[in-house]
Amino acid sequence: PEDIRVYEFAEAIKRPMSEVIKVLFDLGLMMTKNDFLGNDEIEILSEEFDVEVTIVDPKDAFNYEEDLAQDIEKDPDATKRPPVITIMGHVDHGKTSLLDAIRKAKVSEGEAGGITQHIGAYTVQQNGEAITFLDTPGHAAFSHMRQRGTDVTDIIVIVVAADDGVKPQTLEVIKIAKESGAPVIVALNKMDKETAQPDMVKGQMAEHGISPVDWGGDVEFIPVSAKSGMGIDDLLENILITAEVLELRANENAMAKATVVESSLEKGRGPVATVIVQNGTLKVGDYVVCGSSYGRIKALIDENNKQIKSLLPSYTAVVVGLNEVPASGEVMMAMESDKEAKEYAQKRHEYDRHIELSHSTKSTLEDMTSMI
Ligand code: GDP
Ligand code: MG
Repeated sequence: PEDIRVYEFAEAIKRPMSEVIKVLFDLGLMMTKNDFLGNDEIEILSEEFDVEVTIVDPKDAFNYEEDLAQDIEKDPDATKRPPVITIMGHVDHGKTSLLDAIRKAKVSEGEAGGITQHIGAYTVQQNGEAITFLDTPGHAAFSHMRQRGTDVTDIIVIVVAADDGVKPQTLEVIKIAKESGAPVIVALNKMDKETAQPDMVKGQMAEHGISPVDWGGDVEFIPVSAKSGMGIDDLLENILITAEVLELRANENAMAKATVVESSLEKGRGPVATVIVQNGTLKVGDYVVCGSSYGRIKALIDENNKQIKSLLPSYTAVVVGLNEVPASGEVMMAMESDKEAKEYAQKRHEYDRHIELSHSTKSTLEDMTSMI
């Protein structure tokens, strides 16, 4: 539609812009180089100049994000990978505390006001099997990833404080979980409290379509206490059982593909991005593109602040070496060369610019209409 400008069309068909403008003029269309062409105009111009025009979605111009799910399903070299878990729930129901209890470290104590400031992503071992956890503050990063279609979550754990029950954000999370199609496990937290009423919570959740297995439904409700550590093993075991059914796979030898869950500009390190690997093995020295940023991986730093050489599927680390800070939800792909990575990044830059231009034009048109 209004995505192609007159000068872009002229460039594409390799004809002087003045000729294109003249043809349009002869048709009674007063257009200048920066005006956008509609489909009808493009059709007429194509006939006039005897060129065949295929309108390509600019998304295809930087389509380095191949349909991975399909690739992996067909990939005979894919092997089992660990599950990636997102813990969600109403504020103060114990998401951070639960993540702490799970990795037996104390993150929340250092947090300003007890509010999670950023996504943490880390992997724990349960009976020799790995599980990666994501922490989603306010679900913003999670929603962002879903919008981009790059959600990495395999299983959603909904935390509900057993003494507080279903709250507005619990309902939001239920909605997100249903939309995502990811299997759900409910962690009934704060079971150490005398005021805990697990059956009341089960009833409330069942009302919203999350039916407990022991009530004939299909969702596991695991009583836990982030405070005492009770039920944590049970929760992890249930995650592994759920993951088994999902048959999660990846090919460790494929070109690496990862997703950014968090990013920032760090003093001394420059742009950094916490990523989760979806496929392949991400290595120090890899050339990568990540949206409009690119670079060569200088260092991979794991959750214990240790430098590692490579990162397997479903594992997470901070990537150092990009030239710009990528957005969360952006896909990182390993490339054959620096040149290739740079080319993709540049195409993406152009695409982003293009999107901005068409947006600004649209809003200008809207502004004008509203003024009339
Ligand atoms: P978040 O907002 O969901 O991340 O919740 P937090 O993990 O920050 O926990 C909110 C409050 O509940 C904090 O004061 C925690 O100490 C407390 N809390 C979390 N889990 C438990 C639990 O299992 N038992 C008790 N008694 N308190 C808990
Ligand atoms: Mg928190």
